Amino acid sequence: MRHNYSNPDHGFYGEFGGAYIPEILHRCVSELQDAYLPIIESDDFKREYRSLLRDYVGRPSPLYFARRMSEKYGCRLYLKREDLNHTGAHKINNAIGQALIARRMGKTHVIAETGAGQHGVATATACALLGMDCKVFMGQTDIERQRQNVERMRMLGAEVCPVTTGNMTLSDACSEAIRYWCSHPSDTYYAVGSTMGPHPYPDLVARMQSVISEELKWQLREKEGRDSPDCLIACIGGGSNAAGTIYHYADDDRVRIILAEAGGSGIDSGHTAATLHRGTPGILHGARMLVMQTGDGQIEEAFSVSAGLDYPGVGPMHCNMAACGRSEVYAVNDDEAIRAGYELTRLEGIIPAIESAHAVAVLGKVGFKADDVVVLTLSGRGDKDVETYLKYRMDVL
Ligand SMILES: *Cc1c(COP(=O)(O)O)cnc(C)c1O
Repeated sequence: MRHNYSNPDHGFYGEFGGAYIPEILHRCVSELQDAYLPIIESDDFKREYRSLLRDYVGRPSPLYFARRMSEKYGCRLYLKREDLNHTGAHKINNAIGQALIARRMGKTHVIAETGAGQHGVATATACALLGMDCKVFMGQTDIERQRQNVERMRMLGAEVCPVTTGNMTLSDACSEAIRYWCSHPSDTYYAVGSTMGPHPYPDLVARMQSVISEELKWQLREKEGRDSPDCLIACIGGGSNAAGTIYHYADDDRVRIILAEAGGSGIDSGHTAATLHRGTPGILHGARMLVMQTGDGQIEEAFSVSAGLDYPGVGPMHCNMAACGRSEVYAVNDDEAIRAGYELTRLEGIIPAIESAHAVAVLGKVGFKADDVVVLTLSGRGDKDVETYLKYRMDVL
């Protein structure tokens, strides 16, 4: 069995990944394939990236022992607080890293796609910080349901480009960003928001997020006297916060890896985003991965209460790990996620992003031993979701 889950082999994680791109993008994608590792490994990049993560993003993000939740679920539960990062989620780790790479490649324009607007805000923030031009592609449906993030991006100086093709959501925004890139390949850097897209993006984004598990190692040693947990839990859309959480533990079989994808109204309801349950191999946005599609290859629309998990594919690293049985994947339905979000709010005083609430909901589905050390990544904060939570107002306690 191949034990190198975090590292692709020529762009492939098992049978998933690769770079399936139109001819016109060949030059800029292979330029990035050649450039990214030397840049990331250079002292100059490391110095600038590390110092921004510390002084601008606010890293290391705390590892918080959640006492009341631990009592409830019968384990030693720690929350990795990506919600406390500047701009409110893990996305900024990646956005700043890619903006620094773009600058080193001599690019002056950055484009990005966004669904909930979190990656758009993170990219617009990084571009404001570094004085770069920024365009964010966003489906018209999402523009309407994520007003506040749209206004944040505009305030940061980014141009928000409405996408009115297809369902007008994240998947269409990705397609449109790729189309724009095709017509402006030389001066434009495409900052992909998750562990998806053509090689090298899944690896590049995973490396930018791997700071999460790098910190976990010393934080766990400090708090528990050992550097690995018994169990890691994260929510999964494209897979970037999950990739960062498991990166340095992927080949350590003692660590259980548990992922929560968005079940929507239920995996068999026709209204779901549970790609690891429902998907079949196919090519979407430049890579081979599991995709929700009809028998003849039409991409199916994804549905979830959480705009950040609402994508019909999932990154190749996670497709391979799930296929190999390395990760355990649960589908969490909308109502279960909302309930878990309320529960965390009432027991710990932390309002999680609805995406992250999917991970919290898994606690009730998995059996733990009392001394199990469980680390759950809270990918983002719930300020953006308060209206949605209130719409589903429920008595949970
Ligand atoms: C975007 C987002 C996600 C989903 O993206 P991944 O790449 O799977 O991490 C999860 N949580 C939050 C808060 C997000 O903004």
